[in-house]
Amino acid sequence: MSSPVKALRPVQADTRPEPQGVTLRGLRKTYGTAVAVGGVDLDIEAGRFAAILGPSGCGKSTVLGMIGGFVEPSDGDIVIGGRSIVGVPPERRPTAMVFQTLALFPHLTVAGNVAFGLRVRGVRRGVVAEQTRELLDLVRLGPLAERRISELSGGQQQRVAIARALAVEPAVLLLDEPLSALDAQLRKQMQLELRAIQQRTATTFIYVTHDQEEAMSMADQIVVMRDGAVEQAGSPLEVYTRPRTEFVARFLGDANVVSASPGDFTPIVRWLRSEVPSADGQWAIRPEAVTLVDESETAAPVQGRVARATYYGATVRYEVEVGLDEPLVVVVAGEHSPWQAGAAVGVGLDPRRVVALQDRPA
Ligand code: ADP
Repeated sequence: MSSPVKALRPVQADTRPEPQGVTLRGLRKTYGTAVAVGGVDLDIEAGRFAAILGPSGCGKSTVLGMIGGFVEPSDGDIVIGGRSIVGVPPERRPTAMVFQTLALFPHLTVAGNVAFGLRVRGVRRGVVAEQTRELLDLVRLGPLAERRISELSGGQQQRVAIARALAVEPAVLLLDEPLSALDAQLRKQMQLELRAIQQRTATTFIYVTHDQEEAMSMADQIVVMRDGAVEQAGSPLEVYTRPRTEFVARFLGDANVVSASPGDFTPIVRWLRSEVPSADGQWAIRPEAVTLVDESETAAPVQGRVARATYYGATVRYEVEVGLDEPLVVVVAGEHSPWQAGAAVGVGLDPRRVVALQDRPA
């Protein structure tokens, strides 16, 4: 006999559904002969913040639209919480979407916009007020509940849109460049807030952006897309420090990319070949992963000459000629910057911080 206690729910039960993971298998979208998304395989873990990152036109919004049910896939499967949702209408999926345009109701108040999300779900009138209050507290808009949308700042409108989307208790929240209309400072602040909201609600977030800094600072998982395909997916640390391809290395910040033909015996290329073997003869080195030392005090395998030194206060950026077509870019802390243009320097390279690149993603 089962215990009657089991049938009782705790009074303070959090009624939010469990967050759910998202699995894409062979997901494809074509428009006539044009391939918008060319067969994407991806696993996003439940309760994580995933950012889909890539240049304009690479297929980010199309992937998001297919997960939300606004774009019909040409092929492939989308599984949320173990169930395929292909063919299920958007309002019956365990997802909600925050659009770039926000699409708020201008004639309703802040509370009215959020309550709308609850009413469409058929939540009882008495409960709507209470849940609206909770959602507005979550996005820190409690005191502005009775304001009209037109009386809010851009960042506040953004928070209303997020509260309204969360009102339907989605297992997965989809966000399509929601901060792109905000100025740089407000954007930074909203990035932190969004991250905090995601952690408080433990909802799976999938966030589309073309801004690498935004993706790096918010996400647990970064999915780098290019030409309708996933080029690499991993933690911010992984994709930054272990990029698989030149595209990923360059898209996520500054990178020195050294490409060597088989007949190239420049000292730095010799060193790279022996210390970090690369099948494709291509390596990436972050500017902050290179050290410079006085030529006189070193037996560094690579010698160079400073072509240019630019002081930025916190850092100094050097361009160092090492016999390649392009100078090696080196960034060091501002207080360790005794070299001027023309100085002979030893170039320190740590093999653990050099990455062998591949021509194509694995
Ligand atoms: P992103 O979000 O990365 O900027 P999109 O997913 O919007 O890229 O678009 C990917 C590609 O698909 C682009 O080349 C775009 O022009 C094309 N595309 C998107 N929607 C349509 C459509 N409705 N009809 C035809 N082509 C489209």
